[in-house]
Amino acid sequence: MRICVYPGSFDPFTEGHLDVLRNAVSLFDCVYVGVLNNAAKRATFTPKERVQMIERAVSDADFTNVKVESFDGLLVDYATRIGASYIIRGLRAITDFEYEFQIDAINRHLQPHIQTVYFMANPSHSFLSSSTVKEIGGYGGNIRGLVPDCNIKMITERLMNQ
Ligand code: ADP
Repeated sequence: MRICVYPGSFDPFTEGHLDVLRNAVSLFDCVYVGVLNNAAKRATFTPKERVQMIERAVSDADFTNVKVESFDGLLVDYATRIGASYIIRGLRAITDFEYEFQIDAINRHLQPHIQTVYFMANPSHSFLSSSTVKEIGGYGGNIRGLVPDCNIKMITERLMNQ
């Protein structure tokens, strides 16, 4: 059984994240989406809210081999706990590459048997990040097409009330 984990902040989950997840779903038997619960990073949505918004998007997309959870601590420890031999990440630009290159080296050092698999961003979403969504939504802009439709209402309401 090929198990992978797609870790991230997902604050909030975007159509770009969904592209990466769609690729992972078609290649792996079981995909864990791991929402990083990082106490040091101030997030707009709680880990529970992020898990719920991803679960809604997963259900709308009819993915049947996905589990969504939040985790804290080291990613490689979480991956080992759930039996994942692969980590999934997305690459948008050179800046992502430099960051991912460094994280990959650290993860290999900590747990050499876990491989990271990268998907290039869908060109129509290569500009898209959670911070872009927060910036646009915070000014009352339309975030349709940037996040899954099922989450537009809750994301817009939160961003407008900040
Ligand atoms: P992190 O804080 O771990 O980088 P993010 O939620 O920002 O968490 O991103 C999670 C993963 O999804 C990262 O590998 C990131 O490069 C990737 N990603 C984010 N946005 C996109 C996008 N538009 N297209 C493809 N991959 C993306």
